[in-house]
Amino acid sequence: MVNRITGQLLDGLFPSYCSLCKWHCPGPLPLCQDCRNELPANEHACRLCASPLPTAVSGVCGTCLQSPPTFDRAIAPWLYGEYLACLVHRWKFSGARHLTTLLADLWLQQVADPPAVDAVIPVPLHWLRHWRRGYNQAELLALALQRRLPQLQLATGLLQRSRRTAAQSTMAAEARRRNLTGAFTAAGGCANLRLAVVDDVLTTGATAEAVASALKASGARHVEIWCLARTPSPGD
Ligand SMILES: [Zn+2]
Ligand SMILES: [Zn+2]
Repeated sequence: MVNRITGQLLDGLFPSYCSLCKWHCPGPLPLCQDCRNELPANEHACRLCASPLPTAVSGVCGTCLQSPPTFDRAIAPWLYGEYLACLVHRWKFSGARHLTTLLADLWLQQVADPPAVDAVIPVPLHWLRHWRRGYNQAELLALALQRRLPQLQLATGLLQRSRRTAAQSTMAAEARRRNLTGAFTAAGGCANLRLAVVDDVLTTGATAEAVASALKASGARHVEIWCLARTPSPGD
């Protein structure tokens, strides 16, 4: 009896099942070690846009050498492989907002020591998409990071989505850029700030560019992008 109650208490404290394979996993995170090993770390990446680099190349990717991004750097600790895509898809599109804590904890374990910034800004959703989904996943992630790192200042009002844009998942890079031109507006009060923008996955970087342009036009001194993962082929 005592053992059963203790077990229930421990199950309440430590989630017992892996969020992916559903195998029993004692421990503080609801992800077993086997599934965790399937998340490919983005270890050798461009120091500006976080695109994975060929092993022979170090520093900055060819795209950034030709045309540096408006944002100052991106942090994306994983590549967007199948296992992470499964988690992110459920988190974004299937209402699994409880996965936010897992994703934030994994991010913090992987990044270890996030750079100091004046404020953290989640990429805003258009109000209609926010209303349909019921939440903004970038905002949930930023809030979860702040719960773990209370020194982070959240500034949700600094950036607004000024118009609705078409869903981007099937668009090529150039179409994404056109789709997002003028989509974000920064409120005043960015002058001289170092800002981190929280997003889920960095694909072509079009959202990051549009957001950084708006924040820099409003006076921000430094804009970096904090996201979970980078897609392996940003030009796709
Ligand atoms: Zn598992
Ligand atoms: Zn790059």
